[in-house]
Amino acid sequence: MTNTLDDKAIVKDYFNATGFDRWRRIYGDGEVNKVQKDIRIGHQQTIDTVIGWLESDDNLPNLSICDAGCGVGSLSIPLAKAGATIFASDISEKMVTEAKERAAKELADTGKLTFAVQDLEALTGQYHTVICLDVLIHYPTEEALGMIKHLGSLAQSRLILSFAPKTCLLTILKKIGQFFPGPSKTTRAYQHKEKTIIAALNENGFKIERTSMTSTRFYFSRILEAVRSE
Ligand code: SAM
Repeated sequence: MTNTLDDKAIVKDYFNATGFDRWRRIYGDGEVNKVQKDIRIGHQQTIDTVIGWLESDDNLPNLSICDAGCGVGSLSIPLAKAGATIFASDISEKMVTEAKERAAKELADTGKLTFAVQDLEALTGQYHTVICLDVLIHYPTEEALGMIKHLGSLAQSRLILSFAPKTCLLTILKKIGQFFPGPSKTTRAYQHKEKTIIAALNENGFKIERTSMTSTRFYFSRILEAVRSE
């Protein structure tokens, strides 16, 4: 039995406190420990893969993109730089504030990039592409499936997701244990079966177009690009 509201409250508190400091450092370029450096490299590979897919389509300036759970803007900022219109949101106010500051430093014109503090299941509107990277790891599969359904309803053409695949369960639990030593720093991490995620995407009218897997020593992320099949 899961309680989405509790899970969201826990995740939100974490990313407004200890999690904010930790992930802001990982998603930055300052000094970090070896494990954090490995996760930084892995995460950047995930970001680069998605940007590579979008750039290869050669239509970024025509796209409206929703970046759900945008963190510090690691994806939104380069996509805005490449000319896409981005709506970026996150449940953590601290993450959004940091993302706004980074965007102001990195972009000559922030006009195509809008930020909001919002739970992704409260998002409305229609976007050509909806992207949700490394967010589903924070929720049990049942809740992740509800999120996929909602994100799918916002996507006119395409939904891009990343998640920790279930096959890496033991490895990832071990690594996350090393990464979050001590209960005060811990947030829960959930892996999802790829089969289950793909079935949910199919049920919501999407078929898989491109896939990728990022694996480093401490970071595992399966990336799926799903496009509308009807
Ligand atoms: N997607 C970003 C990236 O790849 O750089 C950030 C990934 S970070 C591991 C997870 C982010 O998801 C955090 O910023 C967290 O606040 C956000 N998040 C978690 N649950 C969320 C929800 N229900 N709605 C919106 N954002 C959420």
